[in-house]
Amino acid sequence: MSAGLHVLPSEELVLPTLKNDGNRRWLQPSVIRGKWWWRRMVVAYSIIFLFFLIPHLKWHGKPLVLLDIVSRRFSILGYTFLPTDTLLLALLVVGLFLTIFFTTALFGRAFCGWACPHTMWMEFVFRPIERWLEGPDYGKAHKKGMNAFRKAIRLAAYVFFCWAMANTFISYFVGMEQLKTWWIQSPARHPIPFLVQLGMTAAFVFHFSYFREQLCLIACPYGRFQSVMLDRQSLIVSYDRQRGEPRGKVKKNQTPSTSAVGDCVDCRACVRVCPTGIDIRNGLQMECVNCTQCIDACDDIMTKLNRPTGLIRYSSQNADQGMPSRFLRPRLFLYPTVLLILGIIFFAVLMSKKSFDAVVLRQLGAPFVLTAEGDVQNLLRLKVHNRGETETTLDIKVANAPDARIGFVSAIPTIKPDHIETIPFSIVMPRSAFSHGGFDAQIRITSSTGDERTLLCRLLGPSNPTN
Ligand code: SF4
Ligand code: SF4
Repeated sequence: MSAGLHVLPSEELVLPTLKNDGNRRWLQPSVIRGKWWWRRMVVAYSIIFLFFLIPHLKWHGKPLVLLDIVSRRFSILGYTFLPTDTLLLALLVVGLFLTIFFTTALFGRAFCGWACPHTMWMEFVFRPIERWLEGPDYGKAHKKGMNAFRKAIRLAAYVFFCWAMANTFISYFVGMEQLKTWWIQSPARHPIPFLVQLGMTAAFVFHFSYFREQLCLIACPYGRFQSVMLDRQSLIVSYDRQRGEPRGKVKKNQTPSTSAVGDCVDCRACVRVCPTGIDIRNGLQMECVNCTQCIDACDDIMTKLNRPTGLIRYSSQNADQGMPSRFLRPRLFLYPTVLLILGIIFFAVLMSKKSFDAVVLRQLGAPFVLTAEGDVQNLLRLKVHNRGETETTLDIKVANAPDARIGFVSAIPTIKPDHIETIPFSIVMPRSAFSHGGFDAQIRITSSTGDERTLLCRLLGPSNPTN
């Protein structure tokens, strides 16, 4: 701010990371390695390990997870979903959202603190790097400036981890084999993927070195949604106001009964560890990501003062206000019931799927051709996706016209597992079969594995069959 400019203090806290003068308050939370921190650490490193491992895993020869957007094929647990699997994909998406609602109703914003990629990487990869480089000066180094050598090491470490993260993320969309090919080839042979890798790495470096907790505070929609998904019984990290207030300093081994103050000694340890910069003593706040660091910090203080731990703990809004707590409530039955129904529908649809998908399309050009014998020829294409585990060949017939003749431009190819083939073919029928310029053919396709599909297709012909 320029000298002489009078800045009015804001009447309320706008953002925990915003100073009164409008500048950013940089957060460099300290860490308390309590029981919750160790548990989160195990979960975080397991998730990060799985993130790197999954692109290398296969299931029945297919990638465990491959979201091939360009080819519009999504492989999950060995099953390939196509854009035509609209119902299955819709069921998956609805199921995912319901699972999030259910988890939030049960455990509050547990995802943010225990599974969100931002939190996992920030708190268990990037912040430990900073703490290691800054040593005991962590928290002060930002103000006075880290020395250039340490800054260079920090930048190199950020770029390395962000590059690894970006490449692994990309491998979920293109597959590991494709990614390895890009690694060994010159970037000139694949400029666009190379730029995507660079851009994503740069975006991650920007995020983890600059944007950081702003994602949780101002950008992430889940934080906003939580207020409607939480209820008064949901598990939240909360401060026991009745036990802690009035807060104040007391001597060691003094108890609230002899000091006339509550158990909170106003040491602000819970605030210093908070990665979003809030004070949990102000009650439930949208910025709280349920990371449990304030629980560990306060338990540590209480232990040193020989007082019971749990002044900050997992609780619920009702329990905090001394109202009856009811763990079992209608939504805890509603969500799993709907999820179960969706699951049953999903597997029923999945099981009813044939070993191949097929669609009949018209060839470009004339709608039909009259042959030298006076018959009507329709030129068509059959697009087939072999979803089975073995190679297959096909037989095509017109089920409701036994005298129809099927012609092929070339021999019907053998279709490999999980491959899509387009087979041009023609149907020749006597012109007497056509009325009002068309014939509704039932095209029956039988695979060598014994599966059968009947597709409806309107064949075109002369509007007057006798001329
Ligand atoms: S850490 Fe515990 S005692 Fe210290 S200020 Fe926070 S709530 Fe109070
Ligand atoms: S208030 Fe506590 S649980 Fe919430 S984000 Fe801050 S430290 Fe984590």
